[in-house]
Amino acid sequence: MAILVSSTVADGAAVVAEIERRSGERVSACYQCGRCTSTCTGSFVFDYPPHRIMRLLQLGQVDEVLNSRTAQLCFDCMTCSTRCPMNIDVANVIEHAKMIADERGIEGDEKDVRLFRLAFLQNVRRHGRLHEARLLTWINLRSFKPFNDLELVPLILRKKKIHIVPPRIRNRRQLHRIFREVNSGDKS
Ligand code: SF4
Ligand code: SF4
Repeated sequence: MAILVSSTVADGAAVVAEIERRSGERVSACYQCGRCTSTCTGSFVFDYPPHRIMRLLQLGQVDEVLNSRTAQLCFDCMTCSTRCPMNIDVANVIEHAKMIADERGIEGDEKDVRLFRLAFLQNVRRHGRLHEARLLTWINLRSFKPFNDLELVPLILRKKKIHIVPPRIRNRRQLHRIFREVNSGDKS
């Protein structure tokens, strides 16, 4: 007899499997001790503390995870990962949930944070190092605030905090390989 599985449940299981594959972590190993949450430096602004994110993933409730403020705002301090008695890299799990949310175009409520993150990654991918002038211009244009903080530009230039010419790194091919590996989860 065929077992009918709703597309939501099937998608949830597929996303969890994908997060596990890419991150190399076993979500099912979490036994909800709560140590990750007790040391989490960001949980005061999250909607779900890290141990609840793990539980939601175990239950296949990926929509809650992908749309969560936690996925958008977690700043990868990795305190949770160092405290987990099961050696689960919780920060890595959340990071991959965040990446899948980005791939699905899920903006969540923290649009500015997402915009900054995507701009930052695109910038580093392009130049190998952060080119602040281009980053700030890109963010201002994409957020429709072209003159945001413009009054600070003379001061920043005078203090040589921003370089007009983008930096160049030597081995760009290696850089692109790193990005490819992180995105695919395949370490060859
Ligand atoms: S990596 Fe994220 S979830 Fe983990 S402790 Fe830091 S802020 Fe909290
Ligand atoms: S510390 Fe590890 S085992 Fe404990 S709740 Fe967090 S992820 Fe689960």
